[in-house]
Amino acid sequence: MKINDSKKTVYGVFLLFLLMFSFQSFAFFPSGGFDEFNVLRLARWPFYELDTNNDGKITVGEGVGVYIEEGKRGFKPEEIEDIISAIEVWNSVPTSYASVRIAGYYQDPLSLTIPDALPTISMYVTEADVTDETIEADPETVDVGGGILAVTITLFTVTDTLYEVNGQIYPLSAGMIIDRDIVVSATAHRTGVEGIKADLKSTLVHELGHFLGLDHTPLNNLRAVYLTPTDELPAYLVENEVVWMTLPNGEAKYVGATPTMFPIYFEVELPNGTREDGGKDLAPDDISGISWLYPRGAQENFFDIRHEARSRTRRGSGIPSIPLPGGHVVAWADVDNNGYTTRVPLFSTLVGLYEPLINKQLQGKFNLIGLWKTMEVPGKQGEIFTPTYTLTLSPMNGTGLDRQAPPGMSPSYVDSIQGPNSYSVTTRSDSDYQVSFMSEVFHEVENIIDVSKKDAGTPLVWNFAMNTVVSAVSGRTIPQMRPYLKPMFGDPNDVCPLNIIEVNTGTGGGTTTTPTTPTTPTIPTGGSISFTNDLRSFRDTFLMNSDLGLVLVDMYYTIAPILARAMLKDEFVMKIAIGVVLMILNSKWLIYVIGVVLLLLTSFWGIVRMRAGRSRTTRLFQGGSRRLFLIFMLLNFGLLPTVSSRIAYLTTEQLVEASDAVVSSKVVSVNSYMTKNMKIYTDVEIEVIDTIKGDINEGSSLVFTIIGGETNGFVMVCSEMPKFNEGDEVIVYLRYLPKSKKWTLYAGTRSVTSVNTDETTGKKYVMPYSEIDMLYFNQDKKVVSKSSAGEEDSNEGNIPYEEYIKYLKNLKSK
Ligand SMILES: [Zn+2]
Repeated sequence: MKINDSKKTVYGVFLLFLLMFSFQSFAFFPSGGFDEFNVLRLARWPFYELDTNNDGKITVGEGVGVYIEEGKRGFKPEEIEDIISAIEVWNSVPTSYASVRIAGYYQDPLSLTIPDALPTISMYVTEADVTDETIEADPETVDVGGGILAVTITLFTVTDTLYEVNGQIYPLSAGMIIDRDIVVSATAHRTGVEGIKADLKSTLVHELGHFLGLDHTPLNNLRAVYLTPTDELPAYLVENEVVWMTLPNGEAKYVGATPTMFPIYFEVELPNGTREDGGKDLAPDDISGISWLYPRGAQENFFDIRHEARSRTRRGSGIPSIPLPGGHVVAWADVDNNGYTTRVPLFSTLVGLYEPLINKQLQGKFNLIGLWKTMEVPGKQGEIFTPTYTLTLSPMNGTGLDRQAPPGMSPSYVDSIQGPNSYSVTTRSDSDYQVSFMSEVFHEVENIIDVSKKDAGTPLVWNFAMNTVVSAVSGRTIPQMRPYLKPMFGDPNDVCPLNIIEVNTGTGGGTTTTPTTPTTPTIPTGGSISFTNDLRSFRDTFLMNSDLGLVLVDMYYTIAPILARAMLKDEFVMKIAIGVVLMILNSKWLIYVIGVVLLLLTSFWGIVRMRAGRSRTTRLFQGGSRRLFLIFMLLNFGLLPTVSSRIAYLTTEQLVEASDAVVSSKVVSVNSYMTKNMKIYTDVEIEVIDTIKGDINEGSSLVFTIIGGETNGFVMVCSEMPKFNEGDEVIVYLRYLPKSKKWTLYAGTRSVTSVNTDETTGKKYVMPYSEIDMLYFNQDKKVVSKSSAGEEDSNEGNIPYEEYIKYLKNLKSK
C-alpha cells in the first residue's frame, strides 16, 4: 500500500468534498472524533444505510443490514432468537430511528481475497468448545485473549486515504466507517465455567450499542457488594430498578438507571431478592443517546444544559481559574417525584468532550443533552410529572461508583471523542485532563463542595411556559443564576477575560456570546492543507452563495459516502475518477471546475443508486462471505464473580497459569499492516530480558501479533487491546497459536504490565498498563510487600521490579 505523497494530495483533492460542514456537537458518549480540520465526525451509520427501500423513512423491517453466522461454527437457532430480541431492544425506541435488520446468514469457510465491508455478528468457537461433532473450532489467527465476552471491531479511516487491492487504488474519505463486526465468544455463552454463563442477549444489547455508535459511559447507579470486609474485589456490582417506564410492548415496570453502555458487567436486584444481568434493557441515558444519534420525531421530551466547569480560585489572588476537561458532570433526577428520597444519577457527560484541542480555554465547556422534561409517575398508568435535576461535577479519579468516578475509569478511558481509542486525528494526552479538583454540587446561591451532597443542590426543572430550564426553588433561569460569564462550576476566568472566545450560558434562556467565533470550529490555515482550504473557500464563498450550489453541496454530503464505499467495488468508476483528477494536477483553477464536476457526478451517482434499490447490498455480499478472526480464550471464565458480559478479569495467578509464556522485555519495533480483507494487525517485536514462564531464551527476540492498529490512514479499533511504542519495557503474558505458529497476547490490556525506571535512583518499578487493572495490582502488592520483609520502597507505592519478577516466578511454580 505504498502511494507517493503527491498522488496522495491529488486524491485528497478528489475527496475534499467529503469535508463535512461543522455541525452542532452534543452530549453522551458517542463514538467519533475530530478530523484534521477540527470537524467532529460521529461514527454512526448514515441514514441511507438504514433506509433499506430508499423511501426516505425507516419503517419496520428496515435498518442496517447485518449478516449472522450460522452453521457448525456459528450461532444455533435458539441463539439467533437471542440476537433477534437484542436487536429489538434498540429497534423499538420510539424516539430513535436506529434499527438493525438481519440481512442474511453465512457460514465458514470464507474468502480472504476481497475487502470486507459487510457488518456481521459472528460466533467465535475455539477448540475448547468442541463438545459434539457439529461444532468445529474456527481457524485461529489472532487471539484477543481471555476474559472478553464479545468485541465490536471497527475499521475506519482517520485521514483521506487510499486503499489498494489487486493493483487498483481506491480513495477513502476521512472518518468513514468501513466495517463494523461483532464477535461473540462461544465458550462464555455456551459452556461457561463453574456454572456461570454469560447472557447472550445482554452481551448483544451492549455490543449492538457499540455497533450503532455509542461508547462506554462511567455513569452508574451501582453499589459494589463485598462478601467480607477484607475483600479487595467486590463480589458483584448491583443496582435496584428505580425508574418507572412503559416499555414499547406496553408493559409498565421499573428499570435500572445504569446504562447498558456501562463497560463492566453488573446486575439488577429484583424485588424477590434474586439478581439478573442488568444489561438486557435500556436505561434513560441509553435511550437519550440513541435518540440523539438517530432522532425520530420532534424529540420534544429532551432538553440540554450547556455550560462551563472551571477550577476554584481565590478571587483577587491574580491566579486565573482553569478549565477542567475530563470532569464528570452528572444530572441526578428525582425519579419518583418525591423530594424526600435520594436522587438517582440519570444522565452525564464529560467536560470538554466536544471541544477540539485548538483552544485551551474552551476545554471547560460541557454539554449535557437528552435530559427528560417529563417522566412517568411510578405505579400510575399514563400519569407524568416534570422531574427535577441537581447537577454535580466530579473528577474521574477512581474514588468510587457512588461518586461517579468508578475505579479504573480515567477521563481518557471514557473520552469517546478525543481519547486514545477515539477517531480523532489528534488525541488528548493524559496531561490534557484534570483529575485533581474538589467535586461540587451546583447551587444557585453558592455551590456546595462534595458530590455526596447532591441532594442539597438547586433542583433544576423544565419550565414549559418559559420554554427553558429554571430553578425549581426561585424560578430563575440559568443565565440569571450565573450572570457575567460565571461558570456553573468553579470560578470565572476574571484575570484574563480576553482569553474567552465563546461562552454559552445554558439553553433556552438566551445565549450570551462574545462577538468572536460562532460555533464553527476554527480551521487551521496554511501548510500542507492550503490546497484543500482553497476548495473549502470555493465551497463556502461560491457554492454556498447560490441556490444551485447549496443543493449540490447538500446532495453531495448525502451521497459521497455511498460513492466512496461503492467505489471499493467498482473499478471502472474509479479509473475514470482518478484519470480526471490526474489531468488537472497542476492547475488550481481547474480544480475548482473539477470540484463542480465531481459534485454533479456524485449527485448523478446517487440518482442511479436510488433506482438500483436494494441490489447493492446483495451484490456486495455475493463477493464472498468472511471468516472470523478472533480467538477467545476464556479458560478462567467464571472463576471470578465479577465476570462480565463485556469485560471479565483474571487474577495474576490465573494469568500466569493460562499463558504459554510470560516474559519481561523491551519493545524493539512496532509494525502495523493491513491484510487483504482489510483487517489491521500489529506485529510487536520484543527483546526478552527475563523469562518467567515458557521456553524462551533470555536475550532472544520474539514477535507477537495483536489485532488492531493504524496504517496509511486507517485505524482498526478493537476494545481492550493495548498499544506499544518502541523502547517500552513491559512484562507480557503470551499465548502461542499452534496452527498459525504465531504468538499473541493472552488477555488484551490485562496481559501487559509496564516497567518504569525511576530517573533519580535508576531503580525499576512495575505498574499495570491499564488503570482498570489496578484492583489486581493492589492485590499483588499486598502479597509482595508481605514477602519482602519491611523494606519500604519510596516510589509512590509501585512494586519494585525485582520483587515482582520473583513473585511471578513463585506463582508459576505453584
Ligand atoms: Zn463495550
